[in-house]
Amino acid sequence: MIRVRFAPSNTGYLHIGNCRVALYNYLLSKKHNGTFILRIEDTDKLRSSEEFTHNVLDSLKFLGIEWDEGPYFQSQRFNRHLEIANKLEKDGILKRSKKQGGDMKEALAYKFPYQDVEFKDELRGVIKKDKETIKNIEELVILRSDGTPTYNFCCVVDDYDMKITDVIRGEDHIENTWKQILLYRVLGWQIPRFVHLPLILGSDGKPLSKRHGHTSIDEFRKEGYVKEALVNYLALLGWSHPEGKDEFELNELIENFSIERVNKSAAIFDEKKLKWLNGIKIRKLTPKVWAERINEYNKDNPVIKNFVVKPEFYNAFKDHGETLPEVLENMKTLTSSKIEDLKLVDEIKTKKVLFDKVYDYFSNQEKLDPTSIMTLLKEIQKETGIKGKELYHTFRILITGREKGPELDKLIGIMNITLIKNRLNKFKESIQ
Ligand code: GLU
Repeated sequence: MIRVRFAPSNTGYLHIGNCRVALYNYLLSKKHNGTFILRIEDTDKLRSSEEFTHNVLDSLKFLGIEWDEGPYFQSQRFNRHLEIANKLEKDGILKRSKKQGGDMKEALAYKFPYQDVEFKDELRGVIKKDKETIKNIEELVILRSDGTPTYNFCCVVDDYDMKITDVIRGEDHIENTWKQILLYRVLGWQIPRFVHLPLILGSDGKPLSKRHGHTSIDEFRKEGYVKEALVNYLALLGWSHPEGKDEFELNELIENFSIERVNKSAAIFDEKKLKWLNGIKIRKLTPKVWAERINEYNKDNPVIKNFVVKPEFYNAFKDHGETLPEVLENMKTLTSSKIEDLKLVDEIKTKKVLFDKVYDYFSNQEKLDPTSIMTLLKEIQKETGIKGKELYHTFRILITGREKGPELDKLIGIMNITLIKNRLNKFKESIQ
């Protein structure tokens, strides 16, 4: 039975790299009907905070990465850590160390044996740390001089107590793993399997960081990325499908994911691809969920105040925007008659006859009627000689106040005639 864990420190917002670790653990546990454990490593008193804990839980929930056990808090397990440390001290394995302590108190440390340390990484094969290098590191502090236990020690005790079978974490932890292996050995505990995931780099080849722009899940959420796209994209950051397929539902990821297909080399974070995927995932939502997502987003990050998106808008707007605020931005055509782009007024000025015909038509209409609109357009074509694309382009500007947007016949079905009349009046004022 597989038991895996995600063990973030609560010293920052959950970011892309962390989250990918969480996702891979989650996918593996689901694939094998295992257990996914969430453990918050809140031992850094100075840098950890409840706000960050909340952010980690909230981000995972947002993405639908659900844990089966926990969250456990490392700080609540200190007594257990001390119990094991005391036992090791009694057995003569840990020694008081002046070097690592302050003037008054001593730290409790483990002195590395003068020998090579080898361990197997399920992805990379045998990783070796040679004794000459270890000699320079000399010892590992287990309890600091203030009596608090250190990460490498807590991690081993917790992973053992939580019966973790597979430790899947970032490549940056290889330097901790060999130390932890030595602790497992002196404790006589069974060593779990280890997988170290490749680094994530920005487009410039440097490790992904704030310099590259957004990195926290929260920021991507605020930018209007949907969980389906984020989860799909995170899965592709270091893993690939044998046939190169790159669009997946969560259940397909669970089915297809395997450690064997995780890359050893670094993954490059490509926000353009994420955004492209986001557009696809938005389009794939059912009209009902689509409207719910946009409304939720608009409530939290208002783009159009007091506006309710209806599932009926889906057909017109599903392809218009790769993020939720982009879709909302395009929907402003349904709510505001303001002419944003004055260039459009100049264009209408050159088509006065066309404008007058449209204006007169709408002045006499109570509701939007696609059939008589078609007749109107035919008449305009006959009278002005303006036809085809050009005619539709100008008509679109008058109806929507924009040069681009959803297909007109889809829009006509959901637009409000009063708004169109207001818009035409604004054009009228502006061209006079
Ligand atoms: N708390 C560690 C971190 O956030 C996790 C270490 C681990 O997975 O063992 O990097």
